[in-house]
Amino acid sequence: MPSLIAEVIAVGDEMTSGQRLDTNTQWLAANLNELGINVEYHSTVGDDLQRQTDVIRTAAARANVVVITGGLGPTQDDLTRQAIADAAEVTLETDEAALRHIESIFAKNKREMSDINRRQAQFPSGGSTIHNEEGTAPGVDFECCLNDFDTDHRCRIFALPGVPYEMKQMWTSWVEPQVSKMVGGSQTIVHHVVKCFGVGESQAESIMPGLIARDRKPRVGITASHATISFRIMASAESEQACREQISPTVDFIRETLGEIVFGEGDITLQDVVVQLLCDLALTVSIVDFQFGNAAASLLGTGKAPEAQPHPPHPLVTSIALQHQTPVQWTGTDPSQTSITNESVLHLAATKVREETGADIGVAVGPLFNQSTDGGGGDFEVWISGPELQNSKLSANREFRFGGHSSMRDVRSAKQVLNFLRLNLRAIKEA
Ligand code: ATP
Ligand code: MG
Repeated sequence: MPSLIAEVIAVGDEMTSGQRLDTNTQWLAANLNELGINVEYHSTVGDDLQRQTDVIRTAAARANVVVITGGLGPTQDDLTRQAIADAAEVTLETDEAALRHIESIFAKNKREMSDINRRQAQFPSGGSTIHNEEGTAPGVDFECCLNDFDTDHRCRIFALPGVPYEMKQMWTSWVEPQVSKMVGGSQTIVHHVVKCFGVGESQAESIMPGLIARDRKPRVGITASHATISFRIMASAESEQACREQISPTVDFIRETLGEIVFGEGDITLQDVVVQLLCDLALTVSIVDFQFGNAAASLLGTGKAPEAQPHPPHPLVTSIALQHQTPVQWTGTDPSQTSITNESVLHLAATKVREETGADIGVAVGPLFNQSTDGGGGDFEVWISGPELQNSKLSANREFRFGGHSSMRDVRSAKQVLNFLRLNLRAIKEA
């Protein structure tokens, strides 16, 4: 059976005008996905009958399940019922049971029911109502065939209120079991994320050209956030096990191709990985930064320890931000000595911060020798100084370039620092 396609439609001027964030669509899409149905379209439309009718027509022609949220209220701008009827070219009819339900709510609240509330009991002919336990507006469940080129294409439209808790209640009590039945319980969707640092989005795509192909199974997408690249793998199959079997070779392929650039899978962050490596190796770290304030240390501070070790002390001992001092000033080195280079000064700083704070590893971040620390871009260097481990002393350095917008610079450079630390800790672990 070909997999079903779903579309979510959010209705309301408050969404199209940007006054309110459409959180209902996100919630519905995630829930449809969990049932094993691909949500291929999100549409947002204002409170306008013609536009809403057009959107519903288009959706019903291309999707098998359409879930609409909003526009079921009693006022003149609540047009979803009428728009469904117009799209399907049927009339609106009053549903007596729904009318009695609305009347009972008004009676219970000792409020007078006005004529406009009767509109909420009107439904596109041939459709049925979805009971709304929490409010007056019943939902609509309507099946139609609106694809001119494929007369076998059937679409089930569910219209739910915009009020989030009413929408969720009606989803759970009616829509979810119905969609589940349509899917036959046979399709499951599993998402899996592989996270990388040290490669650009387009570079990743050019290294693995076939990976992002839209017709690939499982489907893979690449997203980038502050230089972290995520490969989002989505498998759809008859069981979770079958999905995992699809995903596994793709993960292996990405890992084999990118090697140590891959830092983790799932929700894990770069800082989590560094904290976990430090915990595994029972090492602590202190950072002195002459360039980016507390950026690297702040990021590392949010890293989570492995679950097996619930409350170890965080491996970050101290961080020192010294943007207005040079490494030379801080280490008390005499800059007139011709043997002093950037490397030896930052190396001294890394050793000094380690010794003075009692940490196992010292990290020093700073500008290249004699280079000013301000301006839009430039180079910086990271030195790591560590203890004697397996007969070799941890001592490593690397130069990096930084650039781009100032709002990105600190977090990107912080990630460069943590990633360099990660690679060195990995090497120790594997030694
Ligand atoms: P009713 O709920 O009476 O059927 P409606 O469906 O049109 O009417 P609105 O009156 O437009 O709902 O909105 C009710 C509340 O729900 C408002 O607070 C609105 O901002 C919120 N809401 C509507 N749609 C969404 C959405 N897509 N995402 C988040 N909140 C929404
Ligand atoms: Mg509305």
